[in-house]
Amino acid sequence: MSLKLRDSKHIWHPLTQHQIHPHALGISSASGVYLKDDQGNRYIDGISSWYTAVYGHCNPKITNPVAMQMQTLDQVVFAGFTHEPAVALSEALIPILPYNQNRLFFSDNGSTAVDVALKMAIQYHHNQGVKKNVFVALDNGFHGDTFGAMSVSGLSVYNGAFEDFFIDVKRIPVPNSENLSEVLKSFEELLQEGDIAGFIYEPLVQGAAAMHIYPADGICALLKLCKQYNVLKIADEVMTGFGKTGTPFASDQITIKPDIICLSKALTAGLMPMAITTCSEQIFEAFLSDKNAKGLFHGHTYTANPLACCAALAAIELFQTTEIQQGIQLINRAHLAFEAKIKTHPKVDKTRVLGVIFALDLETQMDRYGSVRDQLFQFFMDNGVFLRPLGNTIYILPPYVITVEELEKIYKTIEEALGIL
Ligand SMILES: *Cc1c(COP(=O)(O)O)cnc(C)c1O
Repeated sequence: MSLKLRDSKHIWHPLTQHQIHPHALGISSASGVYLKDDQGNRYIDGISSWYTAVYGHCNPKITNPVAMQMQTLDQVVFAGFTHEPAVALSEALIPILPYNQNRLFFSDNGSTAVDVALKMAIQYHHNQGVKKNVFVALDNGFHGDTFGAMSVSGLSVYNGAFEDFFIDVKRIPVPNSENLSEVLKSFEELLQEGDIAGFIYEPLVQGAAAMHIYPADGICALLKLCKQYNVLKIADEVMTGFGKTGTPFASDQITIKPDIICLSKALTAGLMPMAITTCSEQIFEAFLSDKNAKGLFHGHTYTANPLACCAALAAIELFQTTEIQQGIQLINRAHLAFEAKIKTHPKVDKTRVLGVIFALDLETQMDRYGSVRDQLFQFFMDNGVFLRPLGNTIYILPPYVITVEELEKIYKTIEEALGIL
């Protein structure tokens, strides 16, 4: 029996309406920028498998050290114990993070990184005898699928069944040059209420909101206000981290630095699931006490798994090589050239580029997971390119090791797709 049919007997897939999409495509291997299905067809991974495998799939520079680590220490409790991969990772990561970050708290995925950040923020105030338990978040933000992360997410079309259980979140529009003074005013009014624990934002680009890119100035002004009102600034860099926006972190392009940063996705180069919530020493110190209860009593079984830490360490080393940094610049230049060419196409409404991210909005309005979107997706796959359009937005976020020829192939396929619409 084919993989597809065996799959459909027992497996429940994420973000999938099984009645409409009963079959998943069997993928048998991946190498570099290519995915290969069980029929032998190859696809360029144009979105780095949800922004994770940015150094290419099965990169021996990542897999070899992890294979070695596997022989030495596979897993150990991280409460009361520590190990070389975690410590070495901390020593490699802290120097490349925004200057005020000094502590790492490990968890398993982007959503848990966000939940940890929210708990840190609430308890930071609680430990000082202050009750602040409301968050402010941006319209159309996406922060994950656990209850806390879902609550702060503003893309709630699919969360209807759970809304009664959300934590208290106030929402403001993404600031831009036109609305800034208005947004600042309503933000300050919220902060004046005195119960805001933290402000969470995806710096510079909201990924799930169809790669919505916004300028640094506006968000910087909001962050300045957070400082003034002792509201913690939480940057969700789960998507933007590790070079996506052209700098190591999107926060590098914003003058006011976050108190807390959420990292996952490219952190482990697509090899192992892991996340880190980083924070400034000031946050950490608020949890120090001779009372146990003031500590952060949050811990997952696989916290700081040695194999995942080893993958992350190898990834950071690769990230800092000139080869990878040149790859990021090459992609950016190619995207800009493609943008200049495609933006006047009659089927194209808007285009944008930031770092390795390219996005274009089609003239037609369509459902986020509707049929035209499915038709586009299939067209790309039939032509050997894996892209996942979001509604009427087609975007690319390729692995940093992609070649000019492979990028051209993606661009050409997108141009041809515009022709079938
Ligand atoms: C993907 C993503 C998350 C959630 O991460 P998971 O690993 O899927 O739980 C959170 N925030 C942002 C910005 C993301 O892109």
